[in-house]
Amino acid sequence: MIVDDITLPTGLKIGGEWRHTGRADIPVYNPANESLLTSIASADSQDAKDAIDAASRGFAEWRKTSPRHRSEVLRRAYHLMQERKETIARIITLEEGKTLNEARGEVNYASEFFRWFADQVVQMNDALSSAPNGDKAIMVTHHPVGVAYLVTPWNFPAAMATRKIAPALAAGCSVILKPATETPLTALYVAALLTEAGVPDDAISVLPSKSARSISEVMFADERVRKVSFTGSTEVGRVLLHNAAERVVNSSMELGGNAPLLVLDDADFDTAVEQTLVAKIRNAGESCIAANRIYVARQHYQAFSEALAAKMGALIMGDGTQDGVDIGPLVNRDTQKKVASLVDDAVAKGANLLTGGVQPSGAGYFYPPTVLNDIPENADIRYTEIFGPVAVIIPFDDEQAAIDAANNTIFGLAAYVMSSDAAHAVSVAKQLEAGVVGINKGVISDPAAPFGGMKQSGLGREGGYVGINEFTETQYIGLDWPGCSQ
Ligand code: NAD
Repeated sequence: MIVDDITLPTGLKIGGEWRHTGRADIPVYNPANESLLTSIASADSQDAKDAIDAASRGFAEWRKTSPRHRSEVLRRAYHLMQERKETIARIITLEEGKTLNEARGEVNYASEFFRWFADQVVQMNDALSSAPNGDKAIMVTHHPVGVAYLVTPWNFPAAMATRKIAPALAAGCSVILKPATETPLTALYVAALLTEAGVPDDAISVLPSKSARSISEVMFADERVRKVSFTGSTEVGRVLLHNAAERVVNSSMELGGNAPLLVLDDADFDTAVEQTLVAKIRNAGESCIAANRIYVARQHYQAFSEALAAKMGALIMGDGTQDGVDIGPLVNRDTQKKVASLVDDAVAKGANLLTGGVQPSGAGYFYPPTVLNDIPENADIRYTEIFGPVAVIIPFDDEQAAIDAANNTIFGLAAYVMSSDAAHAVSVAKQLEAGVVGINKGVISDPAAPFGGMKQSGLGREGGYVGINEFTETQYIGLDWPGCSQ
């Protein structure tokens, strides 16, 4: 497949080898019109074993490089992604469906992980201190954890990959990336770009596969794989944690969400509507931090519902490559069906439909921006991660009851608070069981901030000052020498 005169890789990247190029195992579709973009090779168990061999050679080479060298390579990767922004954005839009504008935003976000960790790796502090009783020195050092197995979802095919690859490479690990089958092209392109930036061939492999389970079996069975970092559903995360338990593999999990958004009685109305729209509609609602349940103080409830419905109803839905389109298709037929059935269930049980709700006919996995209020207690949509452009608005009279309802879920990834009183907003934010909270802001992801979930939304954090720690082992060396204690 050719995008902007660039022929995209369709083989597996196993160390320095592009394997099975031209073997057409995994069809990749354009969700805007269901046309076949291209087909790519699917990795099997032998490919996975070979990728581990390559990654272990890559680890031996890469771990010996200086932090300064790794920093410079990552910075080159940042610049290359910026230079190729249009091409990468087009690939993302073609295989994932988001609009080109959003895809450009994703490339910015994704590339920033390289710049952020380029800065971090030269500032990692090993430490030397004295034991309080004076009998030794305490030396603390950090080592790369080893070969890292990275598994990513389709919704942000560039950013979910670089959020793992950047800290892993910064720490000195080698990586094997298994992207989602819906969006392998972005991952393969970014891997090729990384070798251009100076990452040794063997330090990065990419294994799209129709049989994720058999790739995982090989990874978890091999002593040389020391790390799994997964982003995806809680359901699959649980399976990988079970697999990891056997050899006690170091695990980071970025899992599903069910984000509440609270519009408090002292919220600025226009800000609340505008930021709720952003928190809901980014990537057509296919985001783990999308506002899933919108709790609104009774005094704003009706006006807020109508204002949000007016804004959502005015969005232009269409092929994301076209100018003027605000919202693209969903990623595939299953996602479209799931969203439609959640809305149909709610409406059948008595929810009030303010806009949208009718799946268009014709090609493409489209679902219109939809707003529901007066949601009955027994509607499935109250309890399910929607992953689509559907706003679910629920009134509250008692703020504490709203906070309790917001926390009444196994998930704890993101939450949002709308209030014009900062002290009030922060006190509510602190009561929310969520790893990431936005106050008066619908988009808060930032490479410089730690991102991750509480409860069954995950383990560990990506980005921020702590992101690199997910890929390091801390070693303590107790050190004595003659005269040490004097
Ligand atoms: P998914 O769990 O179905 O798949 C994620 C990835 O796991 C894909 O690459 C898939 O091929 C792979 N996979 C499935 N079974 C596997 C196995 N046994 N071994 C190895 N890999 C396996 O999720 P999805 O549908 O791609 O993405 C949507 C989900 O991801 C949502 O629940 C969303 O909330 C979550 N998500 C979370 C974050 C976060 O940062 N917490 C970010 C994005 C998406």
